[in-house]
Amino acid sequence: MDCVTIKVGQPCSFMTAKGCSFNGGACHQIIDKCEGCDRILTLESGKYCAAVPNPAVKWRLGSCNLATHVKTASKNGQNIKINPLKASKRSMRK
Ligand code: SF4
Repeated sequence: MDCVTIKVGQPCSFMTAKGCSFNGGACHQIIDKCEGCDRILTLESGKYCAAVPNPAVKWRLGSCNLATHVKTASKNGQNIKINPLKASKRSMRK
């Protein structure tokens, strides 16, 4: 159903015929760590995340996995996982 509270008109799995069923009855605003993310929606009532209803939860156990402004170590060339099967085939070609 489409949201009628905060993100009006956007499809949301928490919206029911009786209203928003999310904890607290509405989306929560972003936290400081979200600043710079491309998923931030700036609305009249504040700044919200387009992907999740409660951004603080996404940061509870480390970096948000949906953040567009956080670079992970693997993107910098460190901690790259190598598929042993592909590495074996690659070495056979040489
Ligand atoms: S995707 Fe993550 S970092 Fe970006 S606004 Fe949402 S909760 Fe914050």
